[in-house]
Amino acid sequence: MTTPSFISIPSDSDFSIHNLPYGVFRPSPGAPPRVGVAIGDFVLDCSVLVEAGLLVVEEVQAAQPFRKPSLNAFMSLGRPVWQAVRQQLQELLAAETATLRDNEPVREAALHRLDQVEMLLPATIGDYTDFYSSREHATNVGTMFRGKDNALQPNWLHLPVGYHGRASSVVVSGIDIRRPCGQTKPGDDPPQYGPSRLLDIELEMGFFVGPGNRLGEPIPVADAEEHIFGLVLVNDWSARDIQKWEYVPLGPFLGKNFATTVSPWVVTLEALAPFRVPGPTQEPAPLPYLQHPHPGAFDIQLEVGLQTPEMDAPHPICRSNFKHLYWSMAQQLAHHTVSGCNMRSGDLLASGTISGPTEDSYGSLLELTWRGSKPIVLPTGETRTFLQDGDTVVMKGYAQGDGYRVGFGEARGRILPAPC
Ligand code: MN
Repeated sequence: MTTPSFISIPSDSDFSIHNLPYGVFRPSPGAPPRVGVAIGDFVLDCSVLVEAGLLVVEEVQAAQPFRKPSLNAFMSLGRPVWQAVRQQLQELLAAETATLRDNEPVREAALHRLDQVEMLLPATIGDYTDFYSSREHATNVGTMFRGKDNALQPNWLHLPVGYHGRASSVVVSGIDIRRPCGQTKPGDDPPQYGPSRLLDIELEMGFFVGPGNRLGEPIPVADAEEHIFGLVLVNDWSARDIQKWEYVPLGPFLGKNFATTVSPWVVTLEALAPFRVPGPTQEPAPLPYLQHPHPGAFDIQLEVGLQTPEMDAPHPICRSNFKHLYWSMAQQLAHHTVSGCNMRSGDLLASGTISGPTEDSYGSLLELTWRGSKPIVLPTGETRTFLQDGDTVVMKGYAQGDGYRVGFGEARGRILPAPC
Protein backbone atom coordinates (compact mmCIF):
# COMPACT_ATOMS: atom_id res chain seq x y z
CA MET A 1 0.00 0.00 0.00
CA THR A 2 0.99 3.59 -0.38
CA THR A 3 2.44 5.80 2.31
CA PRO A 4 0.24 8.90 2.33
CA SER A 5 1.73 12.36 2.23
CA PHE A 6 0.19 15.52 3.66
CA ILE A 7 0.22 16.67 0.02
CA SER A 8 -2.71 15.13 -1.81
CA ILE A 9 -1.44 12.95 -4.67
CA PRO A 10 -3.77 11.25 -7.18
CA SER A 11 -3.00 7.53 -7.67
CA ASP A 12 -2.19 8.16 -11.35
CA SER A 13 0.27 10.96 -10.61
CA ASP A 14 3.82 10.27 -11.84
CA PHE A 15 5.17 11.87 -8.70
CA SER A 16 4.14 9.78 -5.68
CA ILE A 17 6.01 9.91 -2.37
CA HIS A 18 7.76 6.69 -3.53
CA ASN A 19 9.30 8.51 -6.48
CA LEU A 20 10.81 11.89 -5.49
CA PRO A 21 12.70 12.49 -8.75
CA TYR A 22 15.26 15.29 -8.86
CA GLY A 23 15.17 18.25 -11.21
CA VAL A 24 16.60 21.74 -11.63
CA PHE A 25 14.13 24.62 -11.75
CA ARG A 26 13.60 28.36 -11.52
CA PRO A 27 10.71 29.25 -9.17
CA SER A 28 10.16 32.51 -11.08
CA PRO A 29 11.60 34.12 -14.23
CA GLY A 30 15.18 35.25 -13.62
CA ALA A 31 15.45 33.62 -10.17
CA PRO A 32 18.60 31.54 -9.63
CA PRO A 33 18.17 27.84 -10.44
CA ARG A 34 18.00 25.32 -7.62
CA VAL A 35 17.39 21.59 -7.12
CA GLY A 36 14.00 20.21 -6.18
CA VAL A 37 12.01 16.99 -6.10
CA ALA A 38 8.61 16.53 -7.72
CA ILE A 39 5.75 15.55 -5.41
CA GLY A 40 2.18 15.40 -6.77
CA ASP A 41 1.49 18.70 -8.54
CA PHE A 42 4.35 20.43 -6.73
CA VAL A 43 8.10 20.82 -6.71
CA LEU A 44 9.78 20.85 -3.31
CA ASP A 45 12.85 23.12 -3.16
CA CYS A 46 15.58 21.07 -1.43
CA SER A 47 17.78 24.12 -0.89
CA VAL A 48 15.11 25.77 1.27
CA LEU A 49 14.87 22.65 3.43
CA VAL A 50 18.64 22.62 3.97
CA GLU A 51 18.69 26.33 4.85
CA ALA A 52 15.81 25.89 7.29
CA GLY A 53 17.64 23.04 9.01
CA LEU A 54 14.96 20.49 8.10
CA LEU A 55 17.19 18.43 5.82
CA VAL A 56 20.42 17.57 7.61
CA VAL A 57 23.08 15.42 5.93
CA GLU A 58 26.74 16.15 6.62
CA GLU A 59 27.97 15.88 3.03
CA VAL A 60 25.09 18.07 1.85
CA GLN A 61 25.93 20.78 4.41
CA ALA A 62 29.51 20.72 3.13
CA ALA A 63 28.87 20.64 -0.64
CA GLN A 64 25.59 22.62 -0.82
CA PRO A 65 24.55 20.70 -3.96
CA PHE A 66 21.00 22.07 -4.03
CA ARG A 67 21.90 25.75 -4.60
CA LYS A 68 23.33 24.88 -7.99
CA PRO A 69 22.20 25.21 -11.63
CA SER A 70 22.73 21.46 -12.20
CA LEU A 71 22.55 18.14 -10.36
CA ASN A 72 26.22 17.30 -11.03
CA ALA A 73 27.41 18.13 -7.51
CA PHE A 74 24.67 16.00 -5.91
CA MET A 75 25.23 13.17 -8.42
CA SER A 76 28.93 13.04 -7.46
CA LEU A 77 28.20 12.46 -3.74
CA GLY A 78 27.27 8.78 -4.15
CA ARG A 79 24.61 6.35 -3.02
CA PRO A 80 24.90 6.61 0.81
CA VAL A 81 24.23 10.39 0.56
CA TRP A 82 21.43 9.94 -2.01
CA GLN A 83 19.79 7.38 0.31
CA ALA A 84 20.09 9.58 3.40
CA VAL A 85 18.50 12.53 1.59
CA ARG A 86 15.72 10.39 0.14
CA GLN A 87 14.88 8.92 3.54
CA GLN A 88 14.66 12.38 5.16
CA LEU A 89 12.55 13.77 2.31
CA GLN A 90 10.09 10.86 2.55
CA GLU A 91 9.86 11.39 6.29
CA LEU A 92 9.32 15.17 5.94
CA LEU A 93 6.56 14.62 3.38
CA ALA A 94 4.75 11.86 5.31
CA ALA A 95 1.22 12.68 6.50
CA GLU A 96 2.05 12.01 10.15
CA THR A 97 5.20 14.18 10.27
CA ALA A 98 4.46 17.70 11.53
CA THR A 99 7.91 19.28 10.88
CA LEU A 100 7.22 20.60 7.39
CA ARG A 101 3.46 20.06 7.33
CA ASP A 102 2.85 22.53 10.19
CA ASN A 103 5.66 24.99 9.41
CA GLU A 104 3.79 27.38 7.15
CA PRO A 105 6.64 29.83 6.32
CA VAL A 106 9.03 27.05 5.23
CA ARG A 107 6.25 25.15 3.45
CA GLU A 108 5.29 28.26 1.51
CA ALA A 109 8.92 28.97 0.60
CA ALA A 110 9.73 25.40 -0.40
CA LEU A 111 6.65 24.26 -2.33
CA HIS A 112 5.86 25.59 -5.81
CA ARG A 113 3.18 24.48 -8.24
CA LEU A 114 4.79 22.49 -11.06
CA ASP A 115 2.88 24.43 -13.69
CA GLN A 116 4.36 27.70 -12.42
CA VAL A 117 8.08 26.88 -12.47
CA GLU A 118 10.56 26.68 -15.34
CA MET A 119 12.31 23.32 -15.61
CA LEU A 120 15.92 23.34 -16.81
CA LEU A 121 18.27 20.68 -18.14
CA PRO A 122 18.98 18.52 -15.04
CA ALA A 123 22.74 18.20 -15.53
CA THR A 124 25.70 19.81 -17.20
CA ILE A 125 26.40 16.97 -19.60
CA GLY A 126 30.09 16.59 -20.37
CA ASP A 127 29.71 13.53 -22.56
CA TYR A 128 26.74 11.80 -24.12
CA THR A 129 26.83 8.23 -25.44
CA ASP A 130 24.04 6.43 -27.25
CA PHE A 131 23.77 2.65 -27.26
CA TYR A 132 21.81 0.32 -29.56
CA SER A 133 20.64 -2.19 -26.97
CA SER A 134 17.20 -3.35 -28.12
CA ARG A 135 17.45 -6.61 -30.01
CA GLU A 136 14.06 -5.96 -31.61
CA HIS A 137 15.15 -2.53 -32.87
CA ALA A 138 18.50 -3.77 -34.18
CA THR A 139 16.75 -6.72 -35.85
CA ASN A 140 14.08 -4.51 -37.46
CA VAL A 141 16.59 -1.98 -38.80
CA GLY A 142 18.95 -4.77 -39.93
CA THR A 143 16.10 -6.58 -41.70
CA MET A 144 15.13 -3.41 -43.59
CA PHE A 145 18.66 -2.64 -44.75
CA ARG A 146 20.34 -6.06 -45.05
CA GLY A 147 17.53 -8.65 -45.09
CA LYS A 148 16.26 -11.03 -42.44
CA ASP A 149 19.20 -13.47 -42.58
CA ASN A 150 21.85 -10.85 -41.81
CA ALA A 151 19.73 -8.62 -39.57
CA LEU A 152 22.04 -8.65 -36.52
CA GLN A 153 25.70 -7.81 -37.11
CA PRO A 154 28.12 -10.52 -35.84
CA ASN A 155 29.18 -8.39 -32.83
CA TRP A 156 25.69 -7.54 -31.58
CA LEU A 157 25.09 -10.47 -29.20
CA HIS A 158 28.60 -10.12 -27.72
CA LEU A 159 28.81 -6.45 -26.76
CA PRO A 160 26.55 -3.42 -26.27
CA VAL A 161 27.08 -1.47 -29.51
CA GLY A 162 27.14 2.33 -29.10
CA TYR A 163 28.53 5.59 -30.46
CA HIS A 164 29.76 8.82 -28.91
CA GLY A 165 26.97 11.36 -29.31
CA ARG A 166 26.87 15.14 -29.01
CA ALA A 167 26.34 16.60 -25.51
CA SER A 168 25.98 20.26 -26.56
CA SER A 169 22.64 19.67 -28.31
CA VAL A 170 20.90 17.77 -25.49
CA VAL A 171 17.91 19.91 -24.49
CA VAL A 172 15.22 19.70 -21.85
CA SER A 173 11.60 18.83 -22.65
CA GLY A 174 9.61 21.68 -24.19
CA ILE A 175 12.40 23.18 -26.31
CA ASP A 176 11.43 23.39 -30.01
CA ILE A 177 13.53 21.36 -32.46
CA ARG A 178 14.63 22.86 -35.75
CA ARG A 179 14.54 20.49 -38.72
CA PRO A 180 18.16 19.97 -39.75
CA CYS A 181 19.71 20.79 -43.11
CA GLY A 182 22.31 18.55 -44.58
CA GLN A 183 23.56 16.36 -47.35
CA THR A 184 21.52 13.46 -48.65
CA LYS A 185 21.59 11.17 -51.63
CA PRO A 186 18.15 10.04 -52.77
CA GLY A 187 18.31 6.85 -54.85
CA ASP A 188 20.62 7.10 -57.87
CA ASP A 189 20.58 10.93 -57.89
CA PRO A 190 23.77 12.86 -57.08
CA PRO A 191 24.23 14.12 -53.50
CA GLN A 192 22.16 17.21 -52.66
CA TYR A 193 21.85 19.81 -49.89
CA GLY A 194 18.57 20.76 -48.19
CA PRO A 195 16.18 20.12 -45.29
CA SER A 196 16.02 16.54 -44.02
CA ARG A 197 12.87 14.92 -45.38
CA LEU A 198 12.99 11.81 -43.19
CA LEU A 199 12.91 13.31 -39.70
CA ASP A 200 12.34 10.61 -37.08
CA ILE A 201 12.14 9.98 -33.34
CA GLU A 202 13.80 7.35 -31.19
CA LEU A 203 12.07 6.29 -27.96
CA GLU A 204 14.88 5.80 -25.46
CA MET A 205 15.76 6.13 -21.81
CA GLY A 206 19.10 7.31 -20.51
CA PHE A 207 20.95 7.29 -17.20
CA PHE A 208 23.14 9.90 -15.56
CA VAL A 209 26.49 8.87 -14.15
CA GLY A 210 26.92 9.51 -10.41
CA PRO A 211 30.49 9.19 -9.15
CA GLY A 212 32.85 8.67 -12.09
CA ASN A 213 36.01 6.59 -12.47
CA ARG A 214 39.66 7.46 -13.03
CA LEU A 215 41.15 7.28 -16.51
CA GLY A 216 42.60 3.80 -16.97
CA GLU A 217 40.47 2.23 -14.21
CA PRO A 218 37.44 0.38 -15.65
CA ILE A 219 34.20 0.11 -13.65
CA PRO A 220 33.56 -3.60 -12.91
CA VAL A 221 30.09 -4.74 -13.92
CA ALA A 222 29.26 -5.78 -10.34
CA ASP A 223 29.90 -2.19 -9.11
CA ALA A 224 28.38 -0.43 -12.10
CA GLU A 225 25.05 0.50 -10.49
CA GLU A 226 26.87 2.39 -7.72
CA HIS A 227 27.84 4.79 -10.51
CA ILE A 228 24.27 5.25 -11.79
CA PHE A 229 22.33 8.16 -10.28
CA GLY A 230 19.03 7.86 -12.13
CA LEU A 231 17.09 7.73 -15.37
CA VAL A 232 15.34 10.11 -17.76
CA LEU A 233 13.25 9.74 -20.91
CA VAL A 234 15.24 10.43 -24.07
CA ASN A 235 14.12 11.29 -27.60
CA ASP A 236 17.08 10.78 -29.93
CA TRP A 237 15.78 12.85 -32.88
CA SER A 238 17.19 11.34 -36.09
CA ALA A 239 17.43 12.51 -39.71
CA ARG A 240 17.27 9.17 -41.53
CA ASP A 241 18.19 10.51 -44.98
CA ILE A 242 21.26 12.35 -43.69
CA GLN A 243 22.17 9.31 -41.57
CA LYS A 244 21.84 6.88 -44.48
CA TRP A 245 24.29 8.79 -46.71
CA GLU A 246 26.87 9.71 -44.06
CA TYR A 247 27.14 6.71 -41.74
CA VAL A 248 29.69 4.57 -43.61
CA PRO A 249 32.20 3.77 -42.17
CA LEU A 250 32.27 5.73 -38.89
CA GLY A 251 28.62 5.60 -37.80
CA PRO A 252 26.08 8.33 -36.92
CA PHE A 253 27.21 11.98 -37.15
CA LEU A 254 25.07 14.91 -38.36
CA GLY A 255 21.95 12.76 -38.67
CA LYS A 256 21.94 12.61 -34.87
CA ASN A 257 23.77 15.66 -33.52
CA PHE A 258 21.16 18.41 -34.10
CA ALA A 259 19.06 17.64 -31.00
CA THR A 260 18.33 15.14 -28.23
CA THR A 261 15.43 15.81 -25.83
CA VAL A 262 15.41 14.60 -22.21
CA SER A 263 12.72 14.76 -19.54
CA PRO A 264 13.48 17.23 -16.71
CA TRP A 265 12.99 14.77 -13.82
CA VAL A 266 15.67 12.22 -12.95
CA VAL A 267 14.16 9.12 -11.33
CA THR A 268 16.63 7.43 -9.00
CA LEU A 269 17.54 3.74 -8.91
CA GLU A 270 16.24 3.69 -5.30
CA ALA A 271 12.76 4.68 -6.53
CA LEU A 272 12.93 2.08 -9.31
CA ALA A 273 14.14 -0.78 -7.08
CA PRO A 274 10.66 -2.39 -6.66
CA PHE A 275 10.35 -2.63 -10.44
CA ARG A 276 13.53 -4.58 -11.12
CA VAL A 277 12.92 -7.61 -13.37
CA PRO A 278 15.11 -10.09 -15.24
CA GLY A 279 16.07 -8.93 -18.71
CA PRO A 280 15.89 -11.12 -21.83
CA THR A 281 17.94 -14.35 -21.70
CA GLN A 282 21.44 -13.68 -23.02
CA GLU A 283 22.53 -16.47 -25.35
CA PRO A 284 25.43 -16.87 -26.06
CA ALA A 285 26.55 -15.97 -22.52
CA PRO A 286 28.43 -12.66 -22.51
CA LEU A 287 32.15 -12.61 -21.68
CA PRO A 288 32.81 -12.62 -17.90
CA TYR A 289 33.44 -8.84 -17.71
CA LEU A 290 29.81 -8.36 -18.81
CA GLN A 291 28.19 -10.89 -16.48
CA HIS A 292 26.28 -9.66 -13.43
CA PRO A 293 24.31 -11.78 -10.97
CA HIS A 294 21.40 -9.38 -10.35
CA PRO A 295 18.40 -8.91 -12.66
CA GLY A 296 19.33 -5.90 -14.79
CA ALA A 297 16.03 -4.75 -16.31
CA PHE A 298 13.24 -2.50 -14.99
CA ASP A 299 9.53 -2.69 -15.76
CA ILE A 300 8.83 0.83 -17.03
CA GLN A 301 5.88 1.37 -19.36
CA LEU A 302 6.61 3.78 -22.18
CA GLU A 303 4.39 5.65 -24.61
CA VAL A 304 4.95 7.93 -27.58
CA GLY A 305 2.26 10.42 -28.62
CA LEU A 306 2.15 12.42 -31.85
CA GLN A 307 0.19 15.66 -32.21
CA THR A 308 -0.15 17.53 -35.49
CA PRO A 309 -1.22 21.21 -35.58
CA GLU A 310 -4.74 19.96 -36.50
CA MET A 311 -5.04 17.89 -33.30
CA ASP A 312 -6.03 18.91 -29.74
CA ALA A 313 -3.99 16.24 -27.95
CA PRO A 314 -1.25 13.73 -28.71
CA HIS A 315 -2.37 10.41 -30.21
CA PRO A 316 -0.49 7.32 -29.00
CA ILE A 317 1.55 5.77 -31.82
CA CYS A 318 3.73 3.41 -29.75
CA ARG A 319 3.61 1.56 -26.42
CA SER A 320 6.80 -0.14 -25.30
CA ASN A 321 8.66 -1.10 -22.12
CA PHE A 322 12.18 -0.53 -20.82
CA LYS A 323 12.35 -4.20 -19.78
CA HIS A 324 12.73 -5.29 -23.42
CA LEU A 325 16.33 -4.03 -23.55
CA TYR A 326 18.81 -6.86 -24.12
CA TRP A 327 21.85 -5.15 -22.57
CA SER A 328 21.47 -3.76 -19.04
CA MET A 329 22.69 -0.34 -17.90
CA ALA A 330 25.35 -2.07 -15.76
CA GLN A 331 26.62 -3.91 -18.82
CA GLN A 332 26.64 -0.70 -20.87
CA LEU A 333 28.66 1.12 -18.22
CA ALA A 334 31.11 -1.78 -17.70
CA HIS A 335 31.62 -2.09 -21.45
CA HIS A 336 32.00 1.68 -21.96
CA THR A 337 34.81 1.83 -19.37
CA VAL A 338 36.51 -1.53 -20.06
CA SER A 339 38.98 0.33 -22.26
CA GLY A 340 39.86 2.59 -19.34
CA CYS A 341 37.60 5.40 -20.60
CA ASN A 342 36.74 7.69 -17.69
CA MET A 343 33.19 8.75 -16.80
CA ARG A 344 32.34 12.01 -15.08
CA SER A 345 29.33 12.94 -12.95
CA GLY A 346 26.52 14.10 -15.21
CA ASP A 347 27.55 12.06 -18.25
CA LEU A 348 24.48 10.78 -20.09
CA LEU A 349 24.31 7.21 -21.44
CA ALA A 350 21.20 6.47 -23.49
CA SER A 351 19.78 3.03 -24.21
CA GLY A 352 19.12 3.09 -27.91
CA THR A 353 15.62 2.84 -29.37
CA ILE A 354 13.42 0.67 -27.15
CA SER A 355 11.35 -1.48 -29.46
CA GLY A 356 9.28 -4.39 -28.18
CA PRO A 357 8.21 -7.59 -29.94
CA THR A 358 4.91 -6.31 -31.39
CA GLU A 359 4.38 -3.86 -34.26
CA ASP A 360 2.71 -1.29 -31.99
CA SER A 361 5.75 -1.34 -29.67
CA TYR A 362 8.31 -0.16 -32.21
CA GLY A 363 10.12 2.92 -30.92
CA SER A 364 10.81 4.81 -34.16
CA LEU A 365 8.78 5.97 -37.17
CA LEU A 366 11.30 4.10 -39.35
CA GLU A 367 10.01 0.84 -37.84
CA LEU A 368 6.39 1.88 -37.16
CA THR A 369 5.89 2.79 -40.84
CA TRP A 370 8.40 0.15 -42.02
CA ARG A 371 10.63 2.65 -43.83
CA GLY A 372 7.69 4.81 -44.87
CA SER A 373 5.79 2.00 -46.62
CA LYS A 374 2.96 1.83 -44.05
CA PRO A 375 1.82 5.35 -43.10
CA ILE A 376 0.30 5.96 -39.66
CA VAL A 377 -3.31 7.14 -39.84
CA LEU A 378 -4.21 9.71 -37.18
CA PRO A 379 -7.72 10.43 -35.76
CA THR A 380 -7.97 13.57 -37.96
CA GLY A 381 -7.52 11.38 -41.05
CA GLU A 382 -4.05 12.82 -41.58
CA THR A 383 -1.24 10.38 -42.29
CA ARG A 384 2.42 10.41 -41.32
CA THR A 385 5.46 8.44 -42.37
CA PHE A 386 8.07 10.84 -40.96
CA LEU A 387 7.62 14.12 -39.02
CA GLN A 388 6.18 17.28 -40.61
CA ASP A 389 6.89 20.85 -39.48
CA GLY A 390 4.62 21.78 -36.57
CA ASP A 391 4.31 18.19 -35.30
CA THR A 392 4.80 17.64 -31.56
CA VAL A 393 6.14 14.39 -30.10
CA VAL A 394 5.49 13.55 -26.43
CA MET A 395 7.18 10.63 -24.69
CA LYS A 396 5.95 9.43 -21.30
CA GLY A 397 6.87 6.64 -18.94
CA TYR A 398 6.03 5.21 -15.53
CA ALA A 399 6.45 2.14 -13.35
CA GLN A 400 3.14 0.97 -11.83
CA GLY A 401 3.16 0.15 -8.11
CA ASP A 402 0.28 -1.01 -5.91
CA GLY A 403 -1.89 2.12 -5.97
CA TYR A 404 0.94 4.50 -6.89
CA ARG A 405 3.26 5.35 -9.75
CA VAL A 406 6.92 6.11 -10.16
CA GLY A 407 6.79 8.21 -13.32
CA PHE A 408 9.04 10.33 -15.47
CA GLY A 409 6.78 13.18 -16.59
CA GLU A 410 7.35 13.82 -20.27
CA ALA A 411 9.92 14.52 -22.96
CA ARG A 412 8.24 16.86 -25.45
CA GLY A 413 9.43 18.58 -28.58
CA ARG A 414 7.86 20.40 -31.56
CA ILE A 415 9.37 20.53 -35.02
CA LEU A 416 10.16 23.95 -36.50
CA PRO A 417 10.87 24.49 -40.23
CA ALA A 418 14.45 24.09 -41.45
CA PRO A 419 16.56 27.26 -41.85
CA CYS A 420 17.64 26.28 -45.36
MN1 MN B 1 19.51 6.40 -30.74
